Amino acid sequence: MAAVLKNSCKMLRWPRLLTNSNSQEYKQIRHLNLLECHSKNLLQNFGVSVQKFEIVENEGDLKNLKTKFKVDEYVIKAMILAGGRGLGHFDNGFKGGVHLTKDPEKLEGIVSKMVGHRLITKQTPKDGILVKKVMVAESVNIHRETYFCILMDRQSNGPVIVASPAGGTDIENVAEKTPELIGKYPIDIFEGISQEKAEEIAKFLKFEGPLVKKAAKEILQLWKMFLSVDAVQVEINPLVETNEGEVVAVDAKIQFDDNAEFRQKDIFAFNETSEMDPREVEAAKSNLNYVGLDGNIGCLVNGAGLAMATMDIIKLHGGEPANFLDVGGGVTENQVLHAFKILTSDSNVKSILVNVFGGIVNCGIIAKGIVNATKSLQLQVPLVVRLEGTNVEEGRKILKESGLKIEFAADFEQAAQKAVASLRR
Ligand code: GDP
Ligand code: MG
Repeated sequence: MAAVLKNSCKMLRWPRLLTNSNSQEYKQIRHLNLLECHSKNLLQNFGVSVQKFEIVENEGDLKNLKTKFKVDEYVIKAMILAGGRGLGHFDNGFKGGVHLTKDPEKLEGIVSKMVGHRLITKQTPKDGILVKKVMVAESVNIHRETYFCILMDRQSNGPVIVASPAGGTDIENVAEKTPELIGKYPIDIFEGISQEKAEEIAKFLKFEGPLVKKAAKEILQLWKMFLSVDAVQVEINPLVETNEGEVVAVDAKIQFDDNAEFRQKDIFAFNETSEMDPREVEAAKSNLNYVGLDGNIGCLVNGAGLAMATMDIIKLHGGEPANFLDVGGGVTENQVLHAFKILTSDSNVKSILVNVFGGIVNCGIIAKGIVNATKSLQLQVPLVVRLEGTNVEEGRKILKESGLKIEFAADFEQAAQKAVASLRR
């Protein structure tokens, strides 16, 4: 995501605020994110101008494509759930996840250097993401690249449009060095965007003459889509002015509100979990809020605030959390078992810290869950538990009577200290 959004978009990336680890950039998939090809199908359905494209996964697809898809110039793009592809490189040394060629005979060479290889960009983990398919599209003759994004913004309590006439792969630098080139337009979600507002934004994007109306039309269609699909972010970078005087969405990143899954089933069916951290995929199945991190203290906490504070206090005492895990207020014994399964399946986890404040949740349930999980999983790593709140006496009694080797912590701080100390033994 562009730096331009960093301040206004903290709600979409909040776990990152807690940690210094760069690898978090990619892992926090808090909202469904689609591959560019799926996003562009949606854009097309909502009348937004996009290039013609085909998807290629193997040689057979490429042969078909060469016979039926003839254009003056092709653009070939690696399909991964991360941006920055244009400036990225592959693990085989091939430069760039976006290539142009006029010669159909060169397609094979380019595609074979992409498919089956890992693409490393500023937004991927260090070792990149495996490219399984590429998009081959009709290249547009770019005259100018602009940046356009609609996102839900906590500060504005609603949607905001972020726009810049200086779009393209350098947008992060634009935001940092020339912030006057970034326009922000809060939108009233009930009133929406008027024709006048859309034209004002189009003019800010430096569209001129008849292009103002064309760009405004794209903006209005994008807004319609944003609302209809329950998006939390629609980012078009670049939104292009072509040499032929057209306005085209050349790249698209759309994120969706996970709470809307029940009414956006077709969209959520595209969920590419193969690119997600497998620990996060497992956690999502059990309705656990989990974000994988690089440390070695596995955390099981109830409530996002307490989970974040736990991660912070672990760091304060010199430890590194292996994850953010909020089991939620209404946690069941079974979910505690699943949470432990996820923590123990991670070979980096050398100690587990349970920090639960029983509000809605009953400490007895947590305690039973811990006992079942540690017995059935034959827990091998030290376990530190801090329990407080509703039914805490019974919870402690269950744990003590279980005969399991558990270190009890009297308070939050001691819990973190004990978890960090347990690594040294
Ligand atoms: P990203 O690097 O992952 O954001 O991928 P984009 O799809 O945004 O492509 C990166 C850059 O490649 C764009 O900013 C354009 O400069 C260029 N590019 C992408 N598609 C085309 C195209 O169809 N024609 C031309 N001439 N350039 C393109
Ligand atoms: Mg882009």
